Amino acid sequence: MNYYNFEKFRVSLKRNLALIGYAIITFCLFLIIFEYLIAAQSAKSHAQQRIEASNYASVLKSKIDHELNSILFISTGLSSYFTVYHDHIEPKKVNAMLADLYSRTKLVRNFAVAVNTRITYVYPIETNKQIVGMDYQDLRKQWPEVKKAIDSHEGLLAGPLDLLQGGKGLIYRYPVFIDGQYWGLLSTVIDTPEFFKAAFSDVSDHYELGIRVRDFNGQVSKAFYGDDHLFMNRQAYRTISSVPNAEWEWAILSKSGKDLTVPFMIRALVIGMSLAFAYIVFFFLKERTTLASHAMYDSLTGLANRRLLYDRMDQAQAQSKRLDHYFGIMFIDIDYFKKINDTYGHDFGDELLKTVAVKLLGCIRDVDTLSRIGGDEFVVVIEQLGNKDDVELVAKKIFASFEHQVNIMGKDILIGLSIGISIYTPHSSSNVKSLMKEADIALYEVKACGRNSYKIFTKED
Ligand code: GH3
Ligand code: MG
Repeated sequence: MNYYNFEKFRVSLKRNLALIGYAIITFCLFLIIFEYLIAAQSAKSHAQQRIEASNYASVLKSKIDHELNSILFISTGLSSYFTVYHDHIEPKKVNAMLADLYSRTKLVRNFAVAVNTRITYVYPIETNKQIVGMDYQDLRKQWPEVKKAIDSHEGLLAGPLDLLQGGKGLIYRYPVFIDGQYWGLLSTVIDTPEFFKAAFSDVSDHYELGIRVRDFNGQVSKAFYGDDHLFMNRQAYRTISSVPNAEWEWAILSKSGKDLTVPFMIRALVIGMSLAFAYIVFFFLKERTTLASHAMYDSLTGLANRRLLYDRMDQAQAQSKRLDHYFGIMFIDIDYFKKINDTYGHDFGDELLKTVAVKLLGCIRDVDTLSRIGGDEFVVVIEQLGNKDDVELVAKKIFASFEHQVNIMGKDILIGLSIGISIYTPHSSSNVKSLMKEADIALYEVKACGRNSYKIFTKED
C-alpha cells in the first residue's frame, strides 16, 4: 500500500469508525426497544394466564369442596345415630344403614365403626373381613392419626394413603363423643381416583394440574394428583385450599401459554431487524457524509476543494488578525500537464495528480490546508507564519521533493511545478480574494519566465 492509498484508507477509516459507532448505538437501541416490547408482551400474557388459572382454580376448588362435604356429611349423620342409640345398638341395623349409605355414594370404598378403639363394624364386609376386631392401638401406623382425631375432638382427613386393601384412599376419621365422653371412631375411606374423577368430571383439558398436601408445619408431600413438576414451574399459578387437618396446595398451568420464553425465531428476527435498522442508519449517514464530502472535497485526490479552501482562508485571515502573524497562499500548477495527458493518457494524468497531492501533503504541516481547485492547480494555505521568509522554506521543501523522477504506472517521470506565492500581512487592507489574485499573478510570472520555479508576489510587481 503506497502512502497515498494508506492516507486515503486512514481518513476513510476515521470517518467510517464514527458511522460504525452510530450504527452500533442504533443496533443496541433497537434491541433494547424490541426486548422491552417483548418483555411487556410476555408480562401481559403471563398476567392474563394467571387470571385465567386463578378463575379455573376457583371452579375446581368449589367442585372438590362440594364432593368432600357430601361425603363428610355422612359421618355427621352416622355420629347422630350412635349418639342417640348407643345404649341399644343392633348390629343388623348398623350394617343395613352402612349398606344403604354405601349404595348412595360411589366414592366410598368402605365404612368402619370402632367402638372405643376396636373396629366393630365394617362395610362392605367381604373385602374388609380381616380388619374386624382389630384395635387401632395395635395398628402402629394408624394409631397416631386416630389418637390425633380423638384428642382434637374433630374430624380429620388423612391421605391420600396407600390402603391395606390396595389402591389409594383418603381417610376421614370422625370421633364420636357422648356427653363429652369419647365413644368411638367413624372411619370413611374415600376412593381417591374415583373421587377426583367425580369432582373433575367436566374440567377443561387446557390446563395442567397438580395437587399436594401441605400440613400445618409447612411440610409438603409429593403431588397426589397430577404432575409434581408443576410445583417447580415458576409460570404455574399456585393456590391453597383447606381440608380438615391439612391444606392442599394447587399448581395450575395453562397448556397454551406453557412456555413464555421467547422462541429462538423471534429472537433471531429481533436481532435481524435491529441489524437492518443499524445498516439503514449506517447507509443513510454514509450517503450524507459522502454528499457532504463531495461538497467540500475533491473526488479525485480527496483534498479540500475550492469551497473548503475559501473557508480555510477566511479562518486563517481571522486568526492572523487575532494572533498578529502572517499566513501564506501558494498557487501551484503542474508544468506541461496537458502534454503529459496527451502522451500517456488521462488515467496516467489522474495518477500523477494523486501523486502530486500526496507529495505536497508530505511537505506541509497538519495545520496547513492543501486543496485542488481544478485541473492541475493546487493551492496551499500556510498558516501561522512567524516571518515572511518561512514560506520560502516550504517552497524549497516542495522543489526538493520533486527533484527526482517519480514512478507512475511503471513509468519514471520528472514533474515540474510552478509556484506563485502571496503573503497576508495582519491588519493590512488585503483580503482573501486579493491574496488569490496576487498568488495567481506571481504564478503567471513564473510560467512566463520558463516554469519550474517559485515567486513571491510583491507590490512592486
Ligand atoms: P502549463 O505548463 O502552462 O501549466 O500548461 P499545462 O499543459 O499544464 O496546461 P494547463 O495547466 O492550462 O492545463 C491543465 C490541463 O489539465 C487541461 C486538462 O486537459 C487537464 N485536466 C484538467 N482536469 C483534469 C483531470 O481531472 N484529470 C486529468 N488527467 N487531466 C485534467
Ligand atoms: Mg499546468
